[in-house]
Amino acid sequence: MDTILVVNAGSSSVKFQVFALDGDGRLRREIKGQMDGIGSRPRLRATGATGDTLADRAYPIESVQDVPGALMLASAWLRDELQLSPLAVGHRVVHGGPDYDRAVLIDHGVIARLERFTTLAPLHQPHNLAPIRSLLANFPALPQVACFDTAFHRDHDQVADHYAIPRGLHDEGIRRYGFHGLSYEYIAKTLPQVAPDIAKARVVVAHLGSGASMCAIHGGRSVESTMGFTALDGLPMGTRTGQIDPGVILYLMTAKGMSPPEVQNFLYRDCGLKGLSGISNDMRELQNSSDPRAAFAIDYFVYRVALHAGMLAAALQGVDAFVFTAGIGENSVGIRARIAERLAWLGVTLDPTENARHALRISRADSRTPVYVVPTDEELMIAQHTLSLLLNRHSSSRPKRERAS
Ligand code: AMP
Repeated sequence: MDTILVVNAGSSSVKFQVFALDGDGRLRREIKGQMDGIGSRPRLRATGATGDTLADRAYPIESVQDVPGALMLASAWLRDELQLSPLAVGHRVVHGGPDYDRAVLIDHGVIARLERFTTLAPLHQPHNLAPIRSLLANFPALPQVACFDTAFHRDHDQVADHYAIPRGLHDEGIRRYGFHGLSYEYIAKTLPQVAPDIAKARVVVAHLGSGASMCAIHGGRSVESTMGFTALDGLPMGTRTGQIDPGVILYLMTAKGMSPPEVQNFLYRDCGLKGLSGISNDMRELQNSSDPRAAFAIDYFVYRVALHAGMLAAALQGVDAFVFTAGIGENSVGIRARIAERLAWLGVTLDPTENARHALRISRADSRTPVYVVPTDEELMIAQHTLSLLLNRHSSSRPKRERAS
């Protein structure tokens, strides 16, 4: 069986999926797996296409010491026990910096470029790159593709790409990149099939998961994002602040004596729903809680989503449709209803029955602005990019836009 392996490597886990290539060139998901507990209690779990358990086993800590080691172990399991040797590996890489506006076939030069963006995403980029480097060293003939969370947004107009800082800093890379691009790209590519009426229109997509952002899409192209230089900006998230006055950060450092690493840890891990509620970063838990702090954290989340919807509506000069996606967006009837209520001024009228049954279109037939729920699939997007680069292996190892180095 011809397969593509998709890898999403984090700091203490590696998620992977295997897609089989049909004779007619279509991709079919065969396996979803994860190696977690790296450096503490390593465990490999994997399920097949129907959710059947393929593996659930623990490993001694010394056998899986780091992220590359975890991927090697998962690859050995695929190869030795399932007799699967992928044609290529597609990786989720959070930052393509200013250079990459599309996925790219990896070689040593590409890795060197991507390493330059580590300072732009210190919590993610090193973990994304480590297994790539290790696979390249161990299997130099295996094609690998980097798929970026930033690439879909690289087409923004200059005004959307800048901060009001001296231009030299912009040229150095301090820009509004935007993230969750693989998710938005998947939605943009899916709309022509699931909702052709709005595929070319002005659409606000809300990717509401543990990480959350929103994107203004016009004619399938990203126009504006709530995220900027890092994946901290915009909406409040499970543990991240979302938009915050930079003055607060100055205050934390000067009045509270926090060091830069402490501030970074605080903004990424102790804020958002977790910080506000003091209870949990998980929306389901907050919805099940009777604690008023949980209710307040939800109120804040809903309010900020609606505020940013207004901002994106302004970027698009009007909105023709809304789309909800990701964990909260795809599953929470209550949060969708509350956000929609706040968007009534933009012509949204939800249909409670359709919302409750998680229909594709959850607004009433007479809603001036229709609202959809479209499940996202970042891994399929990565598999598709990987396959198409595999099929066009020449002319793809250079970024479209190159900066003078
Ligand atoms: P993701 O990062 O896309 O996997 O989304 C994770 C978030 O989705 C967590 O905050 C979950 O609590 C939330 N979530 C998943 N299912 C539901 C649900 N049925 N109701 C509310 N929130 C949910």
